[in-house]
Amino acid sequence: MRLTIIGCAGSVAGPDQPASSYLLEADFAGRTWRLLLDLGAGAVGPLQAIVDPATIDGILVSHGHPDHCADLASLSVLLRYGPAQGTDLAPIPLWGPEGIDERIRQVEGSSDDAGLAPFAWSALAPGESRSLGPFTVTAARAWHPVPALAYRIEGPSESGVPATLVFTGDTDLSDEVVAVAAGADLLLAEAGWADRAENPRGIHLTGAQAGEVASRAGVRHLVVTHIPPWASVWGTLEQARAEHADATLARPGRVFEV
Ligand SMILES: [Zn+2]
Ligand SMILES: [Zn+2]
Repeated sequence: MRLTIIGCAGSVAGPDQPASSYLLEADFAGRTWRLLLDLGAGAVGPLQAIVDPATIDGILVSHGHPDHCADLASLSVLLRYGPAQGTDLAPIPLWGPEGIDERIRQVEGSSDDAGLAPFAWSALAPGESRSLGPFTVTAARAWHPVPALAYRIEGPSESGVPATLVFTGDTDLSDEVVAVAAGADLLLAEAGWADRAENPRGIHLTGAQAGEVASRAGVRHLVVTHIPPWASVWGTLEQARAEHADATLARPGRVFEV
């Protein structure tokens, strides 16, 4: 599998990058399969420079905050009125916690379901697993103020052996998140909180907590993401590395082999 960072700014888009969005690709059955993880504010712009959006096979959404799903409405417009118009594109499977369909309607601002037309929407429950091409996706409950999921994705590595990527979405530290990350080859973990004496509970990880999840779960590589534009990326990485030495930063355009 190959993970490409489309955008990784936390909470809002930054001056030089959009909010959360990641592309996971794997070669299987004679073609490349593409799974999009989140499509936050501004991400549909650089997405088009990386891949033809009409070739996306499935979309996983972690939760309904704008920095993770606002641009689904933009992708819908692009698929309906852009180059794919009139090509009988099959609806793209769109999975996430309950309420993502309502978010798209709200952002689109229409009372009908036109904005959902390019997608085959279906809610995922914590603990549920589904397959899509070479990918097996398992959802886990994340600890966040709105319904939110972390994802464990199993698929072929570049050399063809099974590999595992885990994406935390937005979450506070919890046993469920550590459990879903167990033994992963790559953990893409958010670090939305600065390392303060006290942060509100049930919202985000700090860099140190992202490192703690990686360490407790026994993952190989940690990729730290979702750092807000006003926070120190290097300071956050340093805190993560103090807990898990094999840690690096998500940056737009970076590609990780899983
Ligand atoms: Zn977020
Ligand atoms: Zn959030």
